[in-house]
Amino acid sequence: VIAAPNLGWNNETLDLPALLPELPLGIRLFNEANAAALAELQVRPHGHADFLFVSGEVGVGGGLLIGSELFTGPSGHAGELGHVVVQPDGTACSCGGRGCLETVAGQDAIFAAAGISRAFPAVAGNAENAGQETGVSPSDPSRSESLDQLKSALLANDAAALAAVGQAGLSLGVAVASSARLFNISAVVLGGHFALLGKWIVPALNNSLAIYAPGVVREENISLSGLGQTGALRGAAGSVVRSLLEAPHRILPPATP
Ligand SMILES: [Zn+2]
Repeated sequence: VIAAPNLGWNNETLDLPALLPELPLGIRLFNEANAAALAELQVRPHGHADFLFVSGEVGVGGGLLIGSELFTGPSGHAGELGHVVVQPDGTACSCGGRGCLETVAGQDAIFAAAGISRAFPAVAGNAENAGQETGVSPSDPSRSESLDQLKSALLANDAAALAAVGQAGLSLGVAVASSARLFNISAVVLGGHFALLGKWIVPALNNSLAIYAPGVVREENISLSGLGQTGALRGAAGSVVRSLLEAPHRILPPATP
């Protein structure tokens, strides 16, 4: 694994065949957002064949589907919407860059801007904690408590919470607008906290898209994922099933003469 900034991993060697021996189909390693993007394709087989999946988590993950195929690029890093620059003079990001979408629309950034207290360790490289290593789990249960706090604040029309999520949605729109222009994408699926906070994120995203890419991604083509935490698992499993259907001979024993 070359890099997993939000896990604190950098050039880690994972001996997966040793950890998981005797698997007939071998092992595939997935980026979480890419796998979740594939799951969206599986649950919407008659939906858009070209779309951008964007998941708000500790960071912001993305998956780009072109012609019903995941586009990952030569090194597997395509679709990383979280590291598209939305604020050229912004804060340092875990990727080593500056002003990425993740520094505005990632969970830590939103919590900080909304004044939500955090019961979990800060994530390496996010906003005000650049360079600090923690290796916190993205599924830390205290994160969902903070998300609940944020949602309660939004429902109570708390000004700081509304501004934080509004800014996240606006910045998300800047990144989506540029990506939609570049890849001729007209549909977006939102996952993670973007789906959870869809009531507030979608209007801000729409306003932003109307400014930065008018008419490119219509409101009716913005949808919320209903898969939650299971999306990445379903997408990864489905991908293996698909590879098996395409080449079933891979699990057959060698023919005897
Ligand atoms: Zn970045």
